[in-house]
Amino acid sequence: MLCFFHPHAIAPRYARAGNTTMNRARSDLPAALTRVGIVGGGQLARMMAQAAPPIGLSITVLDPTPDCPARAFAEQLVGEFDDPGQLAALSTGAAVVTLDIEAVTAACLEALERSGTRVAPSARVLSIIQDKLHQKEFLKAQGLPTSDFCAVAPQNHAAVVEFGMPCVLKARRHGYDGRGVKIVRRLSDAEEMLHVPCLVEKLVDIEKELAVMIARNWRGEIATYPVVEARFDPRVNILDMIQAPASIPPDVAARCILLARQAVEALAGVGIFGIEFFLARGGDVLINEISPRPHNSGHYTIEACATSQFEQHLRAVTDMPLGPTTLLRPAASFNLLGAPGAHGRPVIEGLALARARGAAVHLYGKHTVKPFRKMGHVTVTGDSVEEALATAETLQHALKVTGVDA
Ligand code: ADP
Repeated sequence: MLCFFHPHAIAPRYARAGNTTMNRARSDLPAALTRVGIVGGGQLARMMAQAAPPIGLSITVLDPTPDCPARAFAEQLVGEFDDPGQLAALSTGAAVVTLDIEAVTAACLEALERSGTRVAPSARVLSIIQDKLHQKEFLKAQGLPTSDFCAVAPQNHAAVVEFGMPCVLKARRHGYDGRGVKIVRRLSDAEEMLHVPCLVEKLVDIEKELAVMIARNWRGEIATYPVVEARFDPRVNILDMIQAPASIPPDVAARCILLARQAVEALAGVGIFGIEFFLARGGDVLINEISPRPHNSGHYTIEACATSQFEQHLRAVTDMPLGPTTLLRPAASFNLLGAPGAHGRPVIEGLALARARGAAVHLYGKHTVKPFRKMGHVTVTGDSVEEALATAETLQHALKVTGVDA
């Protein structure tokens, strides 16, 4: 079955993009709603905006692309993430400003903080996390376990050789979804990365990749979600399948939860954080990286947990009491990526089967598809994690996002 995406089929349309119309539309909103500003209007902001009304919040996003994914459920200011004027407009009347992406500069957030706006994650947290080298230095300074690493300046091939191969070379900034990560077995593998400042890490012999979502509010209350297991698509390093809970011994799960708490407390972070771990062969648990926002590996919480990661993030940043994080049903979740070669207007195949199997299909309202672009995700719950995984794997093969010329 073919089905066109209807990005705004159920969307309230408070405003067309642009400042003037937004101000006019704002008066249509119930005055009692507390407003949250989000830098970025992608799928994470979209899912935050969907979670906002039941807890009395309304959302405004700042995004350069008119009619961005969050726009279906939120007001939008059209502008660059680091446009000082638009950031000031975003913060005006907002209880707090938070992030959908880490592309804004920490200096911009600092300027908002100086003007008296509550910002979560804070400029300090963003500056630590945004730069993978700073993040690793922070983990090391806190005594938190992470793979050995060292800084590599552009074109410094000797530093890679000295560190030793095989290793993993990572761009310090702007890497995401595996872009900016390269396993280096011989020096020629390093070539494509060495034009930017990097860090090099020891190649971990990974048994499993694990992740924990953890929320902390301004009062320091913490809530943790179950440990999940992640599989990656080796072609593009994008998260392939999440299973909740992970199939790991209880002591490994307890160790991940403890480390997640220690990391977020050390950061004094506010909001939800995705903490990614490597369970190394031999049993060591290492922190790979921290995301200061809702995370792909937490999408399953929408259907499977008592409080979704998106509601929890909003609760944390607006200093509400945190919601319960109980896993109601085992779950499996996977991304809907643009098919290889796909371009144009997105078309989804296989929806009828997904409906028949009771899966939740989340589409992000993106107007164009590209190969491996995240177009949505699917979550399946089951009586057991094996049952959820089996259904999810069937659907992963059946669902396909291709494109037609617009
Ligand atoms: P991104 O920020 O783009 O998600 P990551 O640092 O999480 O990048 O790396 C992406 C993937 O690369 C990881 O999920 C893991 O599979 C692999 N990887 C990263 N660092 C290492 C490492 N030190 N050893 C082995 N594999 C690694």
